[in-house]
Amino acid sequence: MVRYVVPILLSLLLAACAAPPTREETACMARMQAHVSSLMPAFQALDYRFDVNLSLDENMYDPRGFRSSGNVLGDATAGGRIRLRPSALCRNDALARAVVAHEMSHVALRHVGMQGSGVVLSWEGPPPVEMEADRLAYKVLQKAGGDRRAIIYVRCWLDGCGETPPPRGLSKRGRQPSPSNQ
Ligand SMILES: [Zn+2]
Repeated sequence: MVRYVVPILLSLLLAACAAPPTREETACMARMQAHVSSLMPAFQALDYRFDVNLSLDENMYDPRGFRSSGNVLGDATAGGRIRLRPSALCRNDALARAVVAHEMSHVALRHVGMQGSGVVLSWEGPPPVEMEADRLAYKVLQKAGGDRRAIIYVRCWLDGCGETPPPRGLSKRGRQPSPSNQ
């Protein structure tokens, strides 16, 4: 019996400690989910079938317990778990849409992250993987319609657009350090 009581008590304690989402976070999450819902049919039309499990996560800890660098806007696992950094995305919905499309593309393409990284894969990986995700995200955003600025973000990640590419970025590509979605 004690075997069960301790974990139950622990989980109750943890639940009590976790702060409930603020109204702003709840509203942001709803917008992110709406992006997923509006983009999914475009993925399906291209014959990609997958599920997505979204979360807002300011820390985006890696499997070793390190917080993701502040310029990472989101990441994804091949299994469909997508984490989005609220401080970067909740107030810029066009960028959020672009990042959601990019992360969904990683899931659709079943990109596998760094070896041995455990639950959450990191897309520090080779630029070709990022380019491939961007190309699919671009196609999907065009098909799905919606905010044109999201398409422009992705086009800039792909081709550059002047001296100051908008955030995403993949500092990995050797551009200037800018926020990235991995
Ligand atoms: Zn990526």
